[in-house]
Amino acid sequence: MGFDADAVRRDFPGLDLQVHGRPLVYLDNAATTHKPKVVLDEYQRVYLEENANVHRGIHTLSQLATEDYEKARRTVARFLNAATDDEIVFLRGTTEAINLVAWTFGRERLVKGTNVVISGLEHHSNIVPWQLVTDLTGAELKVVPLDEHGDVTIEAFEATVDANTAMISVAHISNALGTILPVKEICQIANSRNIPVLLDGAQGMSHDHPDVQALGCDFYVFSGHKVFAPTGIGALWGKMQHLEAMPPWHGGGEMIETVTFEGSTYAAPPARFEAGTPNFAGAIALGRALEYLESLDEDAMVAHEADLLAYGTRRLEEIEGLRIIGTAPHKSCVLSFVIDGIHPHDIGAVLDQQGIAVRVGHHCAQPVMAHFGLPATTRASLSMYNTRADIDALVEGLKTVKMLFS
Ligand code: PLP
Repeated sequence: MGFDADAVRRDFPGLDLQVHGRPLVYLDNAATTHKPKVVLDEYQRVYLEENANVHRGIHTLSQLATEDYEKARRTVARFLNAATDDEIVFLRGTTEAINLVAWTFGRERLVKGTNVVISGLEHHSNIVPWQLVTDLTGAELKVVPLDEHGDVTIEAFEATVDANTAMISVAHISNALGTILPVKEICQIANSRNIPVLLDGAQGMSHDHPDVQALGCDFYVFSGHKVFAPTGIGALWGKMQHLEAMPPWHGGGEMIETVTFEGSTYAAPPARFEAGTPNFAGAIALGRALEYLESLDEDAMVAHEADLLAYGTRRLEEIEGLRIIGTAPHKSCVLSFVIDGIHPHDIGAVLDQQGIAVRVGHHCAQPVMAHFGLPATTRASLSMYNTRADIDALVEGLKTVKMLFS
């Protein structure tokens, strides 16, 4: 089939925008991706053709919405290779999913004397929920240190996990640096010691198609908006044996079996964890986004992204005084960098004037910045619809930055 990035771009109307009179060069995909027209159309179609609350009505519209909502669950399950559709819980996104696991599964296991292991390159949303829970229970938070490349080695991981480790929660791919963690090996080690593993798939979902059974993890979580779907929707995959044993987190409609003033009983998963009216339009559009991704030639897409990373690295290294931060051997297409004597915010502002969207700051990963002794970096994060021309535009933009600030 091959991969034609220019053809893919035509599916994404948002990429045709002009910013400050210049064609948009969108290099902020780790923050959020653009949405293909089929997803935008699907989102609108739901409200136009089957707007009704799911699971509640006997009327036709409610039935249509419910059917499509459950179809989206099947699509997510297929994409992740879940054992059953009921292992998919629709939530707001990665942050909510990690909090759910931390406050239910984690809170029960992380008693005093135990620890939860995370890595040094986690997004704040895979740090703070564990801090909240360990502060409450007296368990310890242990961190696998990064090496000088911003990598998490298996040796460092093994040296951190100990006999008291009750939970492991690590990123599949780092948003700040692009490092792809050795998640399969991490899961193997964890499985051999019977320690459950949560993988934060916020970045992994769009760059390293996860197969949760092959990975051997216990939980996999992601956000729709980083995988070409709308904001406000994402999912938690969990092994059914865990979900069944987990207490509810949010209480409300839909998550119950019976309610009396004396007490309530709870529905089986996934409904137990989907209290209240769900974002069914978002979930249905998410299903459509994953179908869109499935329609592309995955191997060719991976090769295209690898080419972008290699080309981008080479081109950026031509710029005097520029240093790439995060040089792990296994990386997705994230180019985080600093330039001697120029603040990342100045870089970002000048690039914006040229229509080039990058992210500057700590990327919600302050400990990663601390590891490299930096307050911030500039991050160009690429997606399948980016091209070498986008990288050339970035390099030209950076030349203007250097001209203005030197
Ligand atoms: N984890 C990683 C690795 C991320 O990149 C992000 C977002 O940038 C998150 C978690 C949080 O995702 P969300 O804000 O969609 O919940």
